[in-house]
Amino acid sequence: MTNCLFCKMVAGDIKPDVVYEDDTVMAFRDINPQAPVHILVIPKRHIATLNELDDDRLGGQMLQTAVKLAEQEGIAEEGYRTLFNCNRNGGQAVYHLHLHLLGGRALHWPPG
Ligand code: C5P
Repeated sequence: MTNCLFCKMVAGDIKPDVVYEDDTVMAFRDINPQAPVHILVIPKRHIATLNELDDDRLGGQMLQTAVKLAEQEGIAEEGYRTLFNCNRNGGQAVYHLHLHLLGGRALHWPPG
């Protein structure tokens, strides 16, 4: 999608701090981290929101990538959070599906 920020990252027009990439997913450090570790895992193809995710395998790949990165970042043992913000009430700002991986500190619950 031409005017999608994350599609531009996948295309290489904008260069985030990439921590993992394969044929289907890409993961990079959030530009405005909310925790010592804050990584976004995205599908390479454009999917606007979680409501449009029609591929169980892709969802699984995104989650497995987050788990591997949690181990790689050294936060697996202490714990971490993964989440999708969906649409306006979910607090979604970028309309290209992304899984947040947050850790490195104790996270509050419930979220605001
Ligand atoms: O779930 P939500 O859509 O609110 O999250 C979008 C995330 O994308 C934010 O955490 C924001 O900091 C991040 N972002 C980024 N690089 C950009 C623009 C936004 O990492 N250039």
